[in-house]
Amino acid sequence: MKMIIVISQNPADARVLEDLLRIYFPGIIVKHQYGKLCNNNLSCPDEIMAWLEIAEMNRKSVKVVLEYKGEKYEHLENLPGGLEFEDEYNQKRRLLRLAVHKVIQQISTQEDMIEQVSPWGILTGVRPTKIVHRLVEQGLSENRIISHFHKDYGLTLEKAKLLTRVALIQRPYLLTSQQAKKIISIYIGIPFCPTRCHYCSFPAFSLKKWGHLLTPYLTALNRELRAVAEFLRTAGIIVQTVYLGGGTPTILTADQLEELLSVLEENFTFTENKEITIEGGRPDTLSYDKIKVMYKHKVNRLSINPQTMHEETLAAIGRKHSVEDVKEMYSLARKVGIPYINMDLIIGLPGENKQIVAHTLGEILELRPENITLHALAIKRTSRYGQEHVELPAVKEGQAMMELAHSTLQAGGYTPYYLYRQKQISAHGENVGYCLGDSYCLYNIQMIEEHQTILGFGVGAGSKFVKNEDWTLENIYNPKDVQLYLERIENIINRKVDKLKAII
Ligand code: SF4
Repeated sequence: MKMIIVISQNPADARVLEDLLRIYFPGIIVKHQYGKLCNNNLSCPDEIMAWLEIAEMNRKSVKVVLEYKGEKYEHLENLPGGLEFEDEYNQKRRLLRLAVHKVIQQISTQEDMIEQVSPWGILTGVRPTKIVHRLVEQGLSENRIISHFHKDYGLTLEKAKLLTRVALIQRPYLLTSQQAKKIISIYIGIPFCPTRCHYCSFPAFSLKKWGHLLTPYLTALNRELRAVAEFLRTAGIIVQTVYLGGGTPTILTADQLEELLSVLEENFTFTENKEITIEGGRPDTLSYDKIKVMYKHKVNRLSINPQTMHEETLAAIGRKHSVEDVKEMYSLARKVGIPYINMDLIIGLPGENKQIVAHTLGEILELRPENITLHALAIKRTSRYGQEHVELPAVKEGQAMMELAHSTLQAGGYTPYYLYRQKQISAHGENVGYCLGDSYCLYNIQMIEEHQTILGFGVGAGSKFVKNEDWTLENIYNPKDVQLYLERIENIINRKVDKLKAII
């Protein structure tokens, strides 16, 4: 295993830099040392890939020296004025990360182990929009926020503008502290799929192998929904948005879907403009009867996810449907009258390039769904691609495809309205939800911004309990295994109700 040794007076520095260094040196181990123990007299172990010395660090500046393949690179980062809104602790960490980002920039394009420099600079977190919200609350203007991200976080101007724009669009939809006490959202997981896509890391049990568990699963899920709904009713808590994800909820038969949606309708109290989204990710699981059931129960959003409109890629990534299936189900959903349709695309799939992405975008824009979500491919360990070697597009090509997708959608009249990033994301990309007009999916905003309690029901579903006084969060998760979920259902319900009691 290769290592980078961080030499500094403070062991915490290595932790501050770990995720940043891993962007450029994937899989690297980051260790701290007080000084360089091996020098010309002692031979350094082969596993040491680089030395990173924090040569000077004070309130106003940081100097770093990176020794890599026998060459030394150094950078001195000085703190500019006008940053009084930052607290001292965070400012020091940010300055250190920025200095390291800039020293890596000096070698990033030349070396085999180092990826192209990230347009996201030193931001490595999943929810960067949260920083914008904080800065707005501190009174910074839009232009000041953009320049802060660009200069002080190392973001490209394009990413700084995108991030700020998205967060500002969301602000009217974030709940106030008073509202957050009484208005929640719900996630329901159906963890079964017809087959498993090669990039998938979600709970998605193959129906062929695990289909016998579906009926007991639905019984337990309905029990969980009913029991928690009973508590919510007594506490006067209402539901703003519901998201049925998975897996693929549309593997349910029309009758099973009817029952699940009826349980929701009969047991929960909703806000006036309730939003219900169903992930119909795989068009091969949709049918006229199922879409009719959705329409009857006022499901107003359906996701039909092609990921790509390139037939060869669909086959290569393990999707068992064709481009034609996508178009057919899309027009069926339109005919039945589902008001908002989302289509997910993945940028950076194996074998894809700019031409293929341009083709996919052209096909999707012709359909003109209300929402289009761009995902940069992220390979997690639990996916098939995480276990086997797969040839991915080069970082430069990945970035070019993502830029093309953003510019094409924006030129096509779509507005970016939610954004998040993931670990192991390819080509330093991002996931961005686009919409036409104001057809935002509220669930997506609430989920990413964490200004609302979201209760997760079913296998693997996470619940976020938001304390409205200070917006702190507590996450709990249901078991990822169906059998365990069935066995522990009463405990799962009690735990959820106890957590709710603690926050209201
Ligand atoms: S459809 Fe979605 S949940 Fe199912 S296997 Fe594919 S990526 Fe995973």
